[in-house]
Parts: sequence; structure tokens; C-alpha cells
Amino acid sequence: MVGETTHFTLEESQIPSAWFNVVPSMPTPPSPPIHPGTKQPVGPDDLAPLFPMALIGQEVTTDEWVDIPGPVMDVYRMYRPTPLVRARRLEKQLGTPARIYYKYEGVSAAGSHKPNTAIAQAYYNQAEGVKRIATETGAGQWGSAMAMACAFFDLECQVYMVRASYDQKPGRRVMMQTWGARVLPSPSEETAAGQAILAEHPDSAGSLGIAISEAVEDTAKREDTKYCLGSVLNHVLLHQTIIGLEAKAQLAKADDTPDVVIGSVGGGSNFAGLAFPFVPDKTTGGKDIRFIAVEPTACPTLTEGAFEYDFEDTAETTPLLEMYTLEHRFIPPPIHAGGLRYHGDAPLLCRLVKDQVIEAVAYPQSKVFESAIQFARAEGIIPAPESAHAVRAAMDEALACKETGEDKAILFGLSGHGLLDLGAYESYLRGDLMDS
Ligand SMILES: *Cc1c(COP(=O)(O)O)cnc(C)c1O
Repeated sequence: MVGETTHFTLEESQIPSAWFNVVPSMPTPPSPPIHPGTKQPVGPDDLAPLFPMALIGQEVTTDEWVDIPGPVMDVYRMYRPTPLVRARRLEKQLGTPARIYYKYEGVSAAGSHKPNTAIAQAYYNQAEGVKRIATETGAGQWGSAMAMACAFFDLECQVYMVRASYDQKPGRRVMMQTWGARVLPSPSEETAAGQAILAEHPDSAGSLGIAISEAVEDTAKREDTKYCLGSVLNHVLLHQTIIGLEAKAQLAKADDTPDVVIGSVGGGSNFAGLAFPFVPDKTTGGKDIRFIAVEPTACPTLTEGAFEYDFEDTAETTPLLEMYTLEHRFIPPPIHAGGLRYHGDAPLLCRLVKDQVIEAVAYPQSKVFESAIQFARAEGIIPAPESAHAVRAAMDEALACKETGEDKAILFGLSGHGLLDLGAYESYLRGDLMDS
């Protein structure tokens, strides 16, 4: 181990130039998406109205490596490699023999890991002549990443933003508008799916499932438009593996390898991005690595959901995916980690949980914020409420090491900063943050 090095850097030329596909390393291959009408596996023709062919190809590829196009690398170099930091001050505070590392994605201009795929998706759409993107956003992280990526690749951007966040988090809406996107609160009057919800519930706070229905309907209505999704799908997870590939190279500089890899899970993309490049070390290399996916108890998809085919959206317009799910009509209670409020999870992640390669835990938000504040006081960074779920699990692992005396290496994903979530911190500090 390197003496007192805390921040493990890579040269720009050492940024990985290909994404990693976990499929060849999986004990069981993932089941295909199913067409809601025919109940047959969906083919490229079914997906072509929604996605460019390059992304459809990535959705089904079994190649282990996919080259990152030059124009995507050019944008990545604006903020990558992102820092891998050894949390030495936190280790001391906890009195743990464990080594704690965090991979910090909050340095992107949008403040999270989401640009890693937004940039790639914008590039492939532009390359195939698409003019306009329709998408949805929950708390606003995905919409802001997509709005920025559309600005880089000269695309119009229409974002359906979950009503509750639209009203409560104007900061992210203004970010999207600054990058040139048009933002509507969802449910909106501009789609049949939105109108149907509003007719029944005029005060609907919305949900990610409703917003997806609206964005998909918008896309289907227009020739010039394609749809982008910020998590769950195979190609999204693929793009996010840049996180884990960099972390692996950075840990090599520390002369270390992880015994435990931890990340928060909304749809599964930042966790998969960090963890998947380490999966073959376990499934084919026989290394004893624990992978821990962390979710909120308010939306316990992996820990309490059923493993079955379900829709991605509320209006039942999308293909069915085999995943752990709380059912597509489930509307989670309004917790501060808005990005973790999704009824399903990525099929690749779910299959690996089902096969016991990856384990899952759930925490209530009060415990999560308690750890986030301890982390901020030790390491400085104020974590996004989503990322704070991973902080909590990493601290619990480190405290377990204190009990047993094990000097494990713990790697966790700090997927974003919380500087647009200070209202949530204020409510915790005031003492009125509730568990649902
Ligand atoms: C969106 C988001 C998440 C959850 O989404 P995943 O697809 O599971 O990664 C986690 N952390 C941050 C900061 C986010 O913006």
C-alpha cells in the first residue's frame, strides 16, 4: 500500500477507452424483454421507434467490450477521470481497521454519474440523424444530465418532470432550462397518459412510471424524436461501467483490490457501473468479493419485490422486463432520495441478485442522513441523499470490521453531491425528517 496517498489519480490517457459488458460473466444469461401485445421477445424492429440502432445493438450485445466513440471520449475528458479517494479521516473517526475508498461522480457538471450515459445516448442519437429527445426525470438529476448532453450534441430536449419535484426542486428545473431543455410537470396535459391521470387525480404528485409513459407517448407521436432512459436498460449500465473501470485502475495504483463493493440503487445504473467490472473477478476468478446494493426501505425493490416480468411504466406501454418489482402501479412514498423511488430495477442487476452474486440491503432515511452528516463532517463532501445510502452501508461494513478486526478494503460509490438537496439536510438538522 502506498504511504499516505489519499487521492488516486490517473492520466487523461488512462481513461478506459471501452465499456465493459457483464453479460458474458453472468452465471445465468438475462431473459429477453417481452412485447406487451404479442408476449414474444421484442426484436430490434419493436425498439426502433424509440432508440437509435447503435443503442439497440448495445442492448443485446454479448461482446465483452464496446469501444467508446471519440466524440464521447472528448466530452468525458472534460470531467473524467473522476476522483477515487481514500476516506482516511472517516476511517480514523470510526476507529476501523478497514480501508474505505469512495469513487466520486459528483464532479460532473450535472453533479452526478448520470452524464456518463446521457453523453453517449445524445451522441448516438445525433449520429443517426435524430433532432429531438423526449425523456422523464424524477428528482431532476437525469433530466439535467440529458439537457446538458443535448446541448453538447445540438439536440432539442423535452423533459417530463415528476410533479412533486417540479414544485419542490426548482433548482434542477432551472438547470435544465439553462442548458436549453423544455420542462413540463408530469402528469401533463400534453399527453393522453398525463390527461388520463389528471382526470382521476387532478392533484397527482406524479411518479417516474407516469413520466415514462408521457415521454414514450411523445416519442411515438413524432418522427424527429427518440426516447432516452437514465437507468435500468442494459446500454445504460454498459455506459456507466466507466466508473468501475476507472476505480479498478485507480485501486491498482493504491496496490489494493476491494473485498466489498457498495452502491445505492434506484434503477441500478451507478451501482452496476461501479460493481460490474469487478463481477468476473468473483464469478470466473473465484475471488471472494461481496457486492452490496443499497436501497431505501420506502422502496424496497430488491429486498422485498417479486422476481417476475413487469412493465417499466404506469400506462403499460413499454416492453415487459424480468426484474425484481414492487408492481408498476406502486407509487413510493415521497422520500428525499427521489432518485431511488422506482418500482423496478435493472434486469442485469436483478438476475445477479437472484443468482446470489450480489446482495441487497435497505435503510430508512433517518439512518441514511445520520451517516451522510458524519461523512460530510469527516470528508467534506455533502452527499446526495441517494448516494448517502451507500455511505451508510459502507460505514456499517467498516464498523463490522472494527468488531472482527478484519482489515477489509471497502469501495463505495458516491454517485453525486447533495448541494441541490439542502432542504432535506435542513429538515434532518431541524429534527423533523420522518421515516415512512
Ligand atoms: C439517479 C441517481 C441515483 C439512482 O439511480 P441509479 O440508476 O440506481 O444509479 C443514485 N444517485 C444519484 C446521485 C442519482 O442522481
